[in-house]
Amino acid sequence: MKIALVGIGKIARDQHVPAIASSRDWELAAAVSRHGGVEGVETFPDLATMLAERPGIQVVSLCLPPVPRFAHAAAALRAGRHVMLEKPPGATLSECHALAAMARDMGLTLYATWHSREAAQVAPAKAWLEGKTIRRVTVTWKEDVRRWHPGQDWIWRPGGLGVFDPGINALSILTEILPEPIHLTRARLTCPANRQTPIAADLEFAHPGGAEVSAAFDWRQEGNQIWTIEVATDTGALLLADGGARLALDGKEQPAPAGEGVPLGGEYPRLYAKMAALVARAGIDMDLAPMTHVADAFTLGERIVTTPFHD
Ligand code: NAP
Repeated sequence: MKIALVGIGKIARDQHVPAIASSRDWELAAAVSRHGGVEGVETFPDLATMLAERPGIQVVSLCLPPVPRFAHAAAALRAGRHVMLEKPPGATLSECHALAAMARDMGLTLYATWHSREAAQVAPAKAWLEGKTIRRVTVTWKEDVRRWHPGQDWIWRPGGLGVFDPGINALSILTEILPEPIHLTRARLTCPANRQTPIAADLEFAHPGGAEVSAAFDWRQEGNQIWTIEVATDTGALLLADGGARLALDGKEQPAPAGEGVPLGGEYPRLYAKMAALVARAGIDMDLAPMTHVADAFTLGERIVTTPFHD
């Protein structure tokens, strides 16, 4: 199938282009980019032109920041194209519901991807937790914003999510592996005085079985980068590390498939394989659970102003 990539920034170059190139399902037939493009691929300056001039491209994959995503997704669906969305699937829950309704009405595929759910050890972690009694869940997502988001001004603007941009990856794993749903009860958002979005967040959740569930996200982490989820159960302990790439059960590291024990390993090829399967049956996959927790944190969060942040 012919596919077009829209928004050629860090994630498009690092993951989407190689994942499409390595897949037998897909041919990267066009790029839409205001500033650059993909070498050897026809590039259009805007989506409307590509949709009008290339009716044979049936699938559009959006790698934009969250705020411009809705207008692009709606335009692609209106033009009869199947749409794949980078995470988060939009800037607000309402616009995601609106897109899902459009896709349903038109019989088109819409896929809200959560790349971290495709990390190598997420499915084994979910299987191990099945049927166990959860006592405590501790999420620690601490990374250096200067290292991972240099010059990305949009993450600091309304709708850019701040530290929830990586934090939502942790929530996407959590909502996948926990056997029962949780809901947010408390949030503390730490925002630099000169920015609109948080640089750190501490969250607490209610669990139906009374387990203690908490998450700490922080973008001020220098040195060792931490992306872990620890779960204590009645019959043992689980540690997911490196964003779901590594798994230890009762302290014993579990083997990962070849080449996959590293952050992001294998995630994007699996997303594109799922998109191909969804398009084949005109399916919709729009799980908004991770985004609901983020929206709740912004609704309920106590705000603390901290020292200004400069890149
Ligand atoms: P980025 O490097 O800033 O790239 C985003 C690209 O989108 C820009 O280069 C630009 O491409 C286009 N764009 C930006 N603002 C736009 C606007 N207002 N209207 C139209 N196009 C616009 O950001 P990124 O890191 O790739 O992140 C993009 C999305 O992927 C985010 O939602 C992020 O959460 C997600 N993601 C990122 C990572 C990561 O490691 N960086 C990992 C997983 C998921 P053109 O110049 O080509 O127009």
